[in-house]
Amino acid sequence: MIADYHMHTPLCRHARGTAEEYVARARELGLAEIGFSDHSPMPQYFDDWRMPVEELPLYFEWIEAARAAAGAMPVRMALEVDWIESGERWIEDLAARAPWDYLIGSVHYIGRWNFDNPAEKQGFRHPGTEEAWTQYWKLFISAARSGLFDIMGHPDIIKKFGHRPEGDLRRYYEPAIAAVAEAGVAIELNTAGLFKDVQEMYPAQDFLNLAAAAGIPLTINSDAHAPEEVGRVFPEAIALARAAGYTSLVRFAGRGRSSVPLP
Ligand code: ZN
Ligand code: FE
Ligand code: FE
Ligand code: ZN
Repeated sequence: MIADYHMHTPLCRHARGTAEEYVARARELGLAEIGFSDHSPMPQYFDDWRMPVEELPLYFEWIEAARAAAGAMPVRMALEVDWIESGERWIEDLAARAPWDYLIGSVHYIGRWNFDNPAEKQGFRHPGTEEAWTQYWKLFISAARSGLFDIMGHPDIIKKFGHRPEGDLRRYYEPAIAAVAEAGVAIELNTAGLFKDVQEMYPAQDFLNLAAAAGIPLTINSDAHAPEEVGRVFPEAIALARAAGYTSLVRFAGRGRSSVPLP
């Protein structure tokens, strides 16, 4: 019995399905609970892959519809919040707008460069992979330290298109792990990376090994943008978590965390 805490809705303009379809897939898989964590709105127009803030009430309606369809299965209400420079005030504002169960903090932007957007992947040519990684992990660390998030999303998503510096990448992972551990934040093992160019879940096994050794709490999530993606390749993710040394996962409710055994 496992939860899936990273699922999107069509409000973000690049996902499809109905609340009932996501719930039906979760029930089919026997998931213990689910949580929607759609891309966070911004105070004004920012890009074309998130709901405008005026649509937050529609998001709450989506959650209500999912809860009505889910019966006894808990449906958590969350957001995948973008970490951008000087965005703290807005995140605090958002955090106060609803009884969120958890907030996922994700880095998708380095400055105004949306590095995980296929339309912007030529951006890796300049500043280059090493510099992109350096800047990414700096942002990841500041997000973890902000205290605004419960879970750090897809920890090494900077590798999405296969851009990885030479050599042992633990030089990037170690400071990030230290910051996450010190901040007391959880991470996710996000299975979606397996279906991107890099063909590997986020984070890499080396990162996960270090995270387990540092006692960082873990969730396993699909990042579903369609009903059939809910709970995708979770047996493989459980095996990776086990191999890293994990024996438990965490659950969230009302921004409080509890632990359950890893199946
Ligand atoms: Zn998305
Ligand atoms: Fe994301
Ligand atoms: Fe996502
Ligand atoms: Zn995501």
